Amino acid sequence: MNNSPQAGPDLSRFKPLDHCAFTDSKGHYCQERLGRTGLCFWHDPLVDKTHMEVKSLLEQHCREGKSGEGFKLRGVNLLDVHLERSGTRMGFNLSYADLTHANLHGAHLFRVNFRHASLHKASLNKANLNRANFEHSTLLGTEFGGTHLEHVHWGERVLQEDYARESQRANKLTEALTYFEEAEEVYRNLRRGAEERGYFELAGDFFHHEMVMNRNKKPLLSLVRVFSKFEDFVTGYGEKPSRVLRFAALLIVCYALAYFFVGIHGDGHEVVLDSARALLENLGDFGRCVYFSIVTFTTLGYGDFIPISPLARFFAATEALIGAISMSLFIVVFVRKRMR
Ligand SMILES: [Zn+2]
Repeated sequence: MNNSPQAGPDLSRFKPLDHCAFTDSKGHYCQERLGRTGLCFWHDPLVDKTHMEVKSLLEQHCREGKSGEGFKLRGVNLLDVHLERSGTRMGFNLSYADLTHANLHGAHLFRVNFRHASLHKASLNKANLNRANFEHSTLLGTEFGGTHLEHVHWGERVLQEDYARESQRANKLTEALTYFEEAEEVYRNLRRGAEERGYFELAGDFFHHEMVMNRNKKPLLSLVRVFSKFEDFVTGYGEKPSRVLRFAALLIVCYALAYFFVGIHGDGHEVVLDSARALLENLGDFGRCVYFSIVTFTTLGYGDFIPISPLARFFAATEALIGAISMSLFIVVFVRKRMR
């Protein structure tokens, strides 16, 4: 028990005998009176709150500017609860709270801090979650039907993905597979919730995560997984048009290098890497190869440079084919994003 605060009379670091034994993430004691088990009404998981009217009590707690960190609110009915604070940028703190199976339908949760909270199978249907924080919270089976999701902070990844990556690193592959499945489900739920309210940018982001989780479930080096990775690299599963452009630029440079090594004809000489020539001349020829690569990729084919050797012809033919497909792909992905 910590009875020696380093500086200042911070009373929250002392535990009066009749106070709850819960300490928050900053090491402060809960200031509520204890019950039979040494914990207060809010922190005692043994107090069944499912049949009680805790809504108004919690609203009052929030109005008084107190914290709800670590509250045990499993299965509580908080229909339409108001947990918004006016005149402060700090939202109500429900970090580390257990809200498993809680009913938060239509709740007003502007700026509420749900970091590390469990919202497993909780209902957030039609709730207002603007600017709420869900970093590292459990969102497995959480309902997001018609939920307001403006400027919600989700963190980099959902918790199940973190667990999956940890298990993967520890080589616990069966465990990792289960977590990847769960993470995929969480992202799918979030994506559907976002789509329902018309947050298409957000939905696209969740869809991308969903597909990455799906890919991680596939056996390493299997054809499905390799193809899925390629799809992600080229189009970001149809969500990232910029990746098509990046892919095109990469191909153009790679093909230019290939032409530079095998040689093409044009400008009255063979355009090819020649170590016997000056650096500037070689650079000039590489520039010609880049030009030829762009003209081939875009299937313009002016004919001022021509591939003579069978290998150069093979490169030019495949580049033209990939180029035509890539350009159509870019238009499809770009238009699909914009037309939502
Ligand atoms: Zn307490």
